[in-house]
Amino acid sequence: MKVAIVGNGFAALSAAHAAEKLGVEVVQIGPKKFEYLPSITKVLSGRKSAEELEVVPKFRWEHVDALVKAVRETNSGVEIVLKDDKTITADYAVVATGASAWVPVEGAFPLYRVEHARKLKKELERLGGEATIAVVGTGLVGLEAAGELVWTREAGFTKYKVIMLEAAPVISPTLPCEKVRAVVPKLLKKHKVEYHLNAMVSKIKNGKVITKDGKEYDADLVVWAAGVKGPEVEIPCGEKDKRGFYLVDEHLRAKGCKRIYVTGDSSSGPSLKMAEEALRHGWYAILHIAGKKTSPYKPFLTKDNPFCFITFGPNDGISVMKRVVVPGRLAPIVKEILERIMIRWAREAKMRPPVPV
Ligand SMILES: Cc1cc2nc3c(=O)[nH]c(=O)nc-3n(C[C@H](O)[C@H](O)[C@H](O)COP(=O)(O)OP(=O)(O)OC[C@H]3O[C@@H](n4cnc5c(N)ncnc54)[C@H](O)[C@@H]3O)c2cc1C
Repeated sequence: MKVAIVGNGFAALSAAHAAEKLGVEVVQIGPKKFEYLPSITKVLSGRKSAEELEVVPKFRWEHVDALVKAVRETNSGVEIVLKDDKTITADYAVVATGASAWVPVEGAFPLYRVEHARKLKKELERLGGEATIAVVGTGLVGLEAAGELVWTREAGFTKYKVIMLEAAPVISPTLPCEKVRAVVPKLLKKHKVEYHLNAMVSKIKNGKVITKDGKEYDADLVVWAAGVKGPEVEIPCGEKDKRGFYLVDEHLRAKGCKRIYVTGDSSSGPSLKMAEEALRHGWYAILHIAGKKTSPYKPFLTKDNPFCFITFGPNDGISVMKRVVVPGRLAPIVKEILERIMIRWAREAKMRPPVPV
């Protein structure tokens, strides 16, 4: 039996390592470099370089350095269609290509991949130390980006003014619980970040961000952290939700397909789109393919069971551990530890879920 694993992120590396442990033959197809997304906002403040967040895993299985266009089911298995139209066949496929950046407004800079952080850093260097930066979106990525930029001002490196724009009538609507949302305004006030609700950005023109209701805000740079869309890989037998993420059955198979699993951020379901959950998805998919697990996948990180650590620069943040919300330094400390562990695991190609599936 041969499994094609598509991607080189948390879910893909976890699936490949699980397959290695079970002696399942694997071909992993994706870029050579693994990107550690949870720390890309640190590139904006210069606390990390983009290169430090990219590692080439020590693949002990077949790896094809290519991007995938489509994953199809055939009579006898699956066919992986690469961007150059070459094909690779296998018995099963695990799609783990994450989400894609979504920027509906021209002139804004997305922040979802290391490449985006690299471009933003260049843009910041071009602007110099005195600039007004608008961060669109007050979810996890928006808050972490704003926190890094604000920290450069607090540490005396820049004179950045940071404003945050949120389309919803409430702050941080995508964060998992009410208790977190109550802490965010206090955090922003403490760090002198101005924020505006009901601010649906519709245009960026001549140094101004213009909202749908006609309000204008000065901004030399606009960081877009207002959501993502589904993966670009096409799965003809699969079914997508309205944002383009693949619906999956109780065993993480793409709905409508028998041999194609969709894991991590590419999938639509009750799991939160977080690294720890992606690791569990990848691991589970291989156990199910190998017949070692037959019970349905049990999500661990959900809206009712959130565990996340939102940093606001190196010294502040919000830690969410189920119903307990702890503001302060804990979040950056925990994230720093996780970053060291996960980057080592990625380099050694030994990714595994911290919470068993
Ligand atoms: C700024 C930021 C902060 C975050 N903070 C946290 C946090 O604190 N805790 C947490 O748990 N999660 C956090 N996350 C979320 C976490 O990074 C994602 O949930 C996780 O990366 C999802 O893993 P994945 O394997 O599904 O996808 P990804 O990690 O996105 O990996 C997808 C892989 O597929 C590859 N790929 C894409 N398209 C193709 C293609 N066509 N063909 C082949 N390969 C392809 C990509 O290059 C990549 O290697 C954060 C994310 C961001 C952006």
